[in-house]
This record gives sequence, structure tokens and C-alpha cells, in this order.
Amino acid sequence: MRNGGPAARIAVLPGDGIGKEVTPESVKVIRAATMSARRPLEFVELDWGADKYLREGVTLPAGAVEMLRDEFDAILFGALGDPRVPGNQHAADILLGLRFKLDLYVNARPVELFHNRLTPLRDRKEEDVKFMVFRENTEGLYVGVGGFFKKDTADEIAVQEDVNSRKGVERIIRHAFDYARKQGLKRVCMSDKSNAMTFAHDLWQRVFKEVRQEYTDIESRHLYIDTLAMEVVRDPRQFDVIVTCNLFGDIISDLGAQLAGGLGLAPSGNIHPGKTSLFEPVHGSAPNIAGKGIANPLGSVLTSAMMLEFLGWKQEAEKLRAATRAALRENFVTPDLGGDRKTMEVGDWIAARVG
Ligand code: ATP
Repeated sequence: MRNGGPAARIAVLPGDGIGKEVTPESVKVIRAATMSARRPLEFVELDWGADKYLREGVTLPAGAVEMLRDEFDAILFGALGDPRVPGNQHAADILLGLRFKLDLYVNARPVELFHNRLTPLRDRKEEDVKFMVFRENTEGLYVGVGGFFKKDTADEIAVQEDVNSRKGVERIIRHAFDYARKQGLKRVCMSDKSNAMTFAHDLWQRVFKEVRQEYTDIESRHLYIDTLAMEVVRDPRQFDVIVTCNLFGDIISDLGAQLAGGLGLAPSGNIHPGKTSLFEPVHGSAPNIAGKGIANPLGSVLTSAMMLEFLGWKQEAEKLRAATRAALRENFVTPDLGGDRKTMEVGDWIAARVG
């Protein structure tokens, strides 16, 4: 990461489908919010995605990872996925490639309710639904180790290995505690399934017990993942920071996204603290609404707020969040949230507000 250079450099990767519609809105909003700064941000757009893949057969160009690592501070990502590409091979190559090759071991998924009409939970106020999920992002069941035996026969066996390294478990748990301390939050909950996954999650248990001793100022607790799923719905006020493995984090963070208004609003970061990190809205390319100008840009705007905070622009990040809150309050939103505004209108409105 080039921190300390003349300007923070951001690689903008709109990708496919609605990624191409929401990402320019975010860039517009970020420019407006950071206009008067001493050290303005510099954006470089990259055209990686389905069109390039279909045209040139290229997913991640040669040298791409090194370039991002050495020449950029952050990556603002839209979405990848296109019905013309069978199996979305390009998306896997680009997104998973960057996640693993840049070693982005923290998947940060904030769950924050910006307007109480958006939650499916009865009688919950904005301040009741506000927690951070840290999902381990480079190991677990997602490493692709496994195989088939007697494939396509009646006796077929499929094996998928769950990989958990001491280093990998420790760094994500430590990150959760560090984050809580830095943000002045009081509670960290580690979730696993150590009663059934008696090897992999025994490691999580041992590491958690060890690391928590260094953070006695923070209340730490353990819940099995099934209990966590119930408790998050029953009373989300119990949680400040949740940390868990790749698979469980994938699921619980999507559950959290629904508690806070759904896919159109959910932001995420794929982070390696101190190194080039990637920020993306949780939604995909949504081919069903792509090209219609009605995609909700607020997930990407909130993602940009996370990126700005990562780059040290805390005040500007807060401006983006405040403007999003205001858009929801005034119902200046796209159809998915019950409004009648276009993607660009919402982007312009937010940009004017933060500028
Ligand atoms: P992908 O294969 O790229 O993940 P997908 O369509 O399967 O795409 P998503 O794009 O994540 O999955 O979203 C599912 C549905 O939710 C979309 O088809 C769309 O109707 C809706 N949706 C998602 N994001 C948005 C958004 N930003 N604005 C409006 N609707 C959205």
C-alpha cells in the first residue's frame, strides 16, 4: 500500500451489470465529499469484467495483483456476474483471485439499520440493530481443497476440506478485538460449532481463550452458530462485534443484511489492515434490473464510506452515512426501497448533500 504518497489512489472496478451503474455514483459522491481536501483522491478506472473477458479472454490481466498492491491504496468494486459467461468464471478469477492473492483476510460486514421502516423485526429502532460481523475470508471451507470419488455413479462421494490455520484464526480474532477497542465497543462474540466440529473449531476455541486474555477491557463471549442465528433475530441489541469462520460469516452476515434493509443497502470490505484492500457492495450484478437505471446506489455509497474510513477520512465517511440516512428519511430512494427515483438522481442528491 502506498500510504503517504501525494494522493490516495483508488482503483475503480465497476465490473458488470448494476456494478456499472452504482459505482460511478459512488465516485461522484466521494469526489464531492473530499473536494476541499489537501490530499485529494485519485481514481483509476479498470475495465475488468464480462465484456473484457468475452472480447479478449482475459479475467485478471497479467501483473494485475502486483499493480494493485504496489500502486493503489484501495479498490472500489462494483459487482461481477453476467449471464453470457457460463459459471461466471471471470467473477471467480477476479474476485477470489484478489481476495486470496492480496491476502484480504478480514471480511467486514457492518449491520446498521438506517431507518426503522426497513427492518423486518417488529418494534426495533435504528439503534437496536447495529453490529459488525467479521468473517474470516481466506480459509475454511472456501479454499477449494477436496475432490470426488466415483463421480456420477450411485456410490459417489464428495469431500470438501475445512482448512483452519493457527495464524489465520488468530489474526481474525485479534482483528475483532482490536476493532472493538478502537471503536470504543464493549462486546465481542466469537461463534463456531465446536461441539460438532471437534477439531477445526477446537482450534478456534483455544485461540479465542488465549487472545481474549489480552483484552480484559472487552466483554467476550462465545455462542454456537445456531444459537447466534436465533439470538441475532430475537434481540440484536446484544451484539457489538461478531467474529466467525468463512462459512458461518457468509450466512450470518446475510442474515444481518436483511435485518438492516436488505441487499440494496449492505456494504462490505475485504481488508488486510495496512495493505491495499477491496471494498464492495454485498449485492451482485442483478442482471434482471441492469441497464434500467433503477439500481439502488446506497449499498455502494455505504461501501465507499467504509473505504474512506479505511483511508483515514473518518469525517467524510460520516458525511456519506448521514446523507444516506437523510435520503431514507425523505424517501429519496430507488424502487427497491419503495421510492420512485433513478440511480443517478439518488447519486446526485447525495453528492449535493455531502459536497
Ligand atoms: P449475481 O449473480 O451477480 O450475484 P444476482 O442477481 O444473482 O447477481 P444480486 O445481484 O445480489 O444477485 O441480487 C438479487 C436481486 O436483488 C437482484 O436480482 C435484484 O432484483 C435485487 N437487488 C440487488 N441489488 C440491488 C440494488 N442495488 N438495487 C436494486 N435491487 C437490487
